[in-house]
Amino acid sequence: IAFGKARFLTSAPSIRQCPPETGREVAFAGRSNAGKSSAINALTNNHRLARTSKTPGRTQLINFFTLGDEAYRLVDLPGYGYAKVSRELKEQWQRDLSEYLERRKTLQGLVLLMDIRHPLQEFDSAILHWAMQGQMPVHILLTKADKLSRSQVNNTLFKVHKELKNLGLHDNKLSLQPFSALSNSGVDELKSVLQSWLIP
Ligand code: GDP
Repeated sequence: IAFGKARFLTSAPSIRQCPPETGREVAFAGRSNAGKSSAINALTNNHRLARTSKTPGRTQLINFFTLGDEAYRLVDLPGYGYAKVSRELKEQWQRDLSEYLERRKTLQGLVLLMDIRHPLQEFDSAILHWAMQGQMPVHILLTKADKLSRSQVNNTLFKVHKELKNLGLHDNKLSLQPFSALSNSGVDELKSVLQSWLIP
């Protein structure tokens, strides 16, 4: 997969208005500020691709990027977790997202980003449950790993593994890695997971 040749394809105002189900895609989700744009930029080696500063609370678009080939797409889902959004909007978004994760035929896997200092917040585990219900592989990025020492990173990995197990989510479809867009660490591991999803 030519991650370095990523190009913007289109935006959709809602999951219901996604482009047709052709080719294969991988989706990126995470709370606002989890480091999703930075991770996509590090992955594609393109620091203008996903904007790094967004207005919190504003309705965001779902952005589709091609990965060198029209048949391979990366889907940047809007960040969640901002309290400013109305309850109805939140519930609509949750319904749409669960439907997307459970029904979208082109979707091969979900990358779920969580700040390594605040893993498994509200809604992260809901997303994990929906994905597992839909037999959807999930790869978790514990982002901003540069903020912690090596031993703190290892402790967190251990704790998150244990919590996932407690949630009944220790499935073979679930994997986990530390990631830092700042130090560019974990990029190769992420690439090989995406590669295995897109070209099975
Ligand atoms: P998004 O809202 O999930 O797209 O998050 P952004 O990519 O915009 O990042 C949110 C904030 O975290 C920004 O201030 C980034 O500079 C910072 N950030 C993102 N990734 C990293 C990282 O790997 N290390 C550090 N130290 N900061 C990061």
